[in-house]
Amino acid sequence: MRTLVVGGGPAGLSAAEKALDTGKEVLMFDKDGYKDDSERWNAWGGFVGDIGKVKQLNGDEEYISKIDKLVWNKKNGKEFKVEMDNAATIDRRKTEKLWAQRLESKGAEIRNKEIDAGEIVSLSESFDLMIDSSGAMPISCELNDIEASSRAATGMSASIKGDFSNFYGQMKVFPFGRDYLYVIPQLESRATVGAGGPRTADFGEIEQRIKKRCREENIPVPEDFQTRLMPVAGGRSYSTCEYSINEMTVRLAGDATSNLNALVGFGFDRACEQGEMAIKIDRLSSSYQAWLKKKYRASKLQRAIFSKVHDNLGHKFIVRLLESLPGSTTHKLIDPESTPQFLEGIKDSVYYSQ
Ligand SMILES: Cc1cc2nc3c(=O)[nH]c(=O)nc-3n(C[C@H](O)[C@H](O)[C@H](O)COP(=O)(O)OP(=O)(O)OC[C@H]3O[C@@H](n4cnc5c(N)ncnc54)[C@H](O)[C@@H]3O)c2cc1C
Repeated sequence: MRTLVVGGGPAGLSAAEKALDTGKEVLMFDKDGYKDDSERWNAWGGFVGDIGKVKQLNGDEEYISKIDKLVWNKKNGKEFKVEMDNAATIDRRKTEKLWAQRLESKGAEIRNKEIDAGEIVSLSESFDLMIDSSGAMPISCELNDIEASSRAATGMSASIKGDFSNFYGQMKVFPFGRDYLYVIPQLESRATVGAGGPRTADFGEIEQRIKKRCREENIPVPEDFQTRLMPVAGGRSYSTCEYSINEMTVRLAGDATSNLNALVGFGFDRACEQGEMAIKIDRLSSSYQAWLKKKYRASKLQRAIFSKVHDNLGHKFIVRLLESLPGSTTHKLIDPESTPQFLEGIKDSVYYSQ
């Protein structure tokens, strides 16, 4: 049994590991590889909702910093806090690099190469399963005529240096206009700042507003502030998340499934979960699509709750983002037990720019 994994982010690494652990041969392609200067490390928020997963990966806790609470600054100067049990920031570069090395020691073949659709079709003769974990614009768009994801919202995020000792151990959210500014310290001297906005927002304008808001909060923003776009993918039908090429089954996992990314990510946990399940499902009496649907579709109750959040926030997309995250820390904030508290917390924090 041979498994082909396209894309070696958290979804691909999880899938590869599960496949190896169940006795399969694994060939994985990643176009960036795990080089220290790989672009993708720079912007990533580093936030993980479940510290357990990362600890279990390598046991090296030097680059894991626990996040104890989310602190929402309200416009009346008060704060609204939500305790977080398992959240953390991680150094994703080290995490993925070590993870890939461990897979190689278990027998995986990892190639630092961008693979194209034609090569995949040729390889399909010798593999029985492929995991498409190639990210928000997956190679399956070419292989299976799946529409490329459209942008549902805009966001920008950047890693900056400064003194974040006051913030350390917290994720801070500051409202401004119809946007948010979030600050996630990874170290006392480094943090990710970012903001989300409506789909039509202009990136240049968001960048200027992030800078302005940072200055108001005394957050140091260097002139060479390196921004990255955070594409937030439109929802893709789960029925397109499994198909075949010749005799090879293909399953999409992680951002490739276009489950919406949240305002501040949370994609890592979900990508890991989907990568594992894309392998594990063969041993269960369910189909992969059915599992995705069951796991990620919001209930009526959730929708009712979200619509209240939506009315308060004025951000339709936030509602959809939250909807897509059952089981995540964000979901915890809006589960029926904590919803009144959550709504109470955000009520006064939202104001609209004229
Ligand atoms: C700016 C930004 C900040 C974020 N912050 C957070 C955060 O704080 N917390 C969080 O949980 N999530 C965060 N996310 C979301 C998170 O990064 C994703 O949800 C997560 O990385 C998805 O994992 P994945 O494995 O599905 O895809 P990816 O991590 O995108 O990995 C896909 C991999 O596929 C490779 N690839 C693509 N095409 C090919 C090809 N043809 N051949 C070979 N290789 C290919 C790419 O090189 C890449 O390594 C953030 C996202 C962005 C953009």
